[in-house]
Amino acid sequence: MNSRMHLREEVVWVCRRLAEKGLVAASDGNVSCRLDSNYVLITPGGRHKGDLECADLLVLDETGMPVEGPGTPSSELRMHLCVYENRPDVEAVVHAHPPMLTALTLAGLPFCAELLPEVWLTIGPVPTAPYATPSTREVPDAVRGLIGGHEALLLERHGSLTVGRTVREACMRLEKLEHAAHIQFYAHLLKNGPPDPLRTEDLLKLQALKKQ
Ligand SMILES: [Zn+2]
Repeated sequence: MNSRMHLREEVVWVCRRLAEKGLVAASDGNVSCRLDSNYVLITPGGRHKGDLECADLLVLDETGMPVEGPGTPSSELRMHLCVYENRPDVEAVVHAHPPMLTALTLAGLPFCAELLPEVWLTIGPVPTAPYATPSTREVPDAVRGLIGGHEALLLERHGSLTVGRTVREACMRLEKLEHAAHIQFYAHLLKNGPPDPLRTEDLLKLQALKKQ
């Protein structure tokens, strides 16, 4: 199997996973990966993520112009291209509408990565990008300044943006964050207030582990 076909299959696998896990509804969300330094593979706009097939994906050039594939590319393509421009180390981008993470932004609460050691270790801080009108240039403008130092962002009143070296990694990061957001929510309810983060000395130990 050539690697381009493999990448298409991986994107389709992630799209189905997002739909099955309730991380997107209907035609929400978009997934992309680099094909090489000049081209990006991306999901089409207006299609249910659970129904996509390999042949439905589009290839874009570095300016966002479709060069292969049917239909129109995702309306958030500028956000994906903005990530690739600013993160040469990133190979894949997943944008979804996870209910609990998105609800945090509606409640004006930050996602607290310092609550669970594994989240801190594998993903790190997850800031919230300010509200931007979906599918406009406001979205890349809102994420540009934050994506440099982070593997994931929340988009206020909109959803999540996770990146990775593969589409599976970007998807797994999203699953982990949504799961952690549920835990943060339950802890907040049980305690009737925000749960305490890990102690600074414990965070420093995790930081040391990360460097290894
Ligand atoms: Zn969206």
